[in-house]
Amino acid sequence: MNILMVSSEMSPFAKTGGLADVVAALPKALVRRGHNVVVVLPMYGDIDAYKYGIGHFHAPMGVWMGDDEQEWCAVRRTVYDDVPVYFIEHDVYFNRHGLYHDKAMRDYADNPRRFAFLCRAALQLCIDKGFRPDVVHAHDWQTALLAPYLRIWNWNGTVLENCPAMLTIHNLAYQGIYSKRNYPYLGFSWEHFTTDRFEYYDAINYLKAGIFYSSMVNTVSPTYADEVRTPEHGNGLDGHLRWKGDRFWGILNGADYDIWSPEHDHRLPAHYTSEHRDGKRICKNVLQDHFGLRHDDNVALFGVVGRFTAQKGYNLLAQVIEPVLNSMHVQFAILGTGETDLEQFFNFMAHKYGDRVGIHVGFSEDLAHLVEAGSDFFLMPSRFEPCGLNQMYSLRYGTLPIVRATGGLNDTVENYNHHNGDGTGFKFYDFTAEALYYTMGWAVSTYYDRRHHIEKMRYNAMQRRFTWDMSAEAYEYAYLRAMGLH
Ligand code: ADP
Repeated sequence: MNILMVSSEMSPFAKTGGLADVVAALPKALVRRGHNVVVVLPMYGDIDAYKYGIGHFHAPMGVWMGDDEQEWCAVRRTVYDDVPVYFIEHDVYFNRHGLYHDKAMRDYADNPRRFAFLCRAALQLCIDKGFRPDVVHAHDWQTALLAPYLRIWNWNGTVLENCPAMLTIHNLAYQGIYSKRNYPYLGFSWEHFTTDRFEYYDAINYLKAGIFYSSMVNTVSPTYADEVRTPEHGNGLDGHLRWKGDRFWGILNGADYDIWSPEHDHRLPAHYTSEHRDGKRICKNVLQDHFGLRHDDNVALFGVVGRFTAQKGYNLLAQVIEPVLNSMHVQFAILGTGETDLEQFFNFMAHKYGDRVGIHVGFSEDLAHLVEAGSDFFLMPSRFEPCGLNQMYSLRYGTLPIVRATGGLNDTVENYNHHNGDGTGFKFYDFTAEALYYTMGWAVSTYYDRRHHIEKMRYNAMQRRFTWDMSAEAYEYAYLRAMGLH
């Protein structure tokens, strides 16, 4: 198949979260399975063209938007992991700091225009270069408009004629809701501005339109797919998703084990395998050094890596961290960035508890790998979690995840059985500080009193695989259905 993938993120070029890892790994897996995949991204100002060999490819490219003005951009290109990647270079829209917001975390006001332009430019590139996709794959609200462009605009006689769209929802909490003042720029007539398509409480909802016009829609885990069909987790679109019927379902993400494996992770100070885990102790010591924690092989060390947002449940951690420190022999290594309150609170904890709590505020791939490898437990108390990648990485590194049983966390972590030591982590169900506190206590008591169970779980966790090959097969099936071939 010829597959066009358009995204606002892809590792290693531009990343704020799991979307970037998925858009790096899925095309690679599809190429391995014999498909022809092309990825289109924005040429953000922070992307290092020199480092990644991103050269000039096509310019100028004229793109008609709805205001009947042609906008001009250029296209750059590189090949990464056997996948051709094209970059839409439009300095006014993309040559600035970050992806979606400024340094003060304020969303860029022209986001609705920036990402509509990205979608239109990606389609224009197909036309200009004669690339005929069998399916166009969009990711999240940023590229959801690909579907209405393909369905509403007239592409007869072009390479896009009858081309279906598939949409993957990585997080339903972000829908791209903007004032309808932006609607004319998109280039759709007002007859489509209806409550089943674009309109959402008198505003435009990009994701909603994407769901309506896509032939197939998926999200990134089976449990999350069930959850978002309910009013409680549907973020106002549950009815819309239920209406999609069997054209909406969950495909679990995979983990990229080329990058995330303790046997050959070049970012680690030592390597280890499921059978020989001595290297994990060395990683723990180096992690303790990095985070200013006391050297101790026998203390239960909790790792955290993630965005400090309400979704991730770190407010629960903030509530329990002191009681846990006061009642249990533990350490914390926290890597993250996001809400200022949480950053300040964890900084304060690090200050107050000295060599028992370490924090690094910021985004660091190197430290993320070290936290995964050097910790004993990995905390993900998420309020909701579409898939979650970190718990999969943790499993691979023998770092037992402590998770709330929601979304992909529920699908990937098997709860501890204290009778026989089966399981790969610790789960709790209620989104409360008490539930988190007692589950951390359960993990800590297992660590000190039933170490043989911990070792057995580590081994089992490291054996688990969530490969992209499995997921790519499911996406293949979805593409075929989108094309009407299944
Ligand atoms: P989400 O996409 O909701 O942020 P995921 O668990 O799906 O959550 O993916 C998060 C990805 O971002 C992981 O690869 C994780 O290692 C990475 N990540 C998150 N925060 C940081 C950080 N502060 N430094 C380095 N990597 C981070």
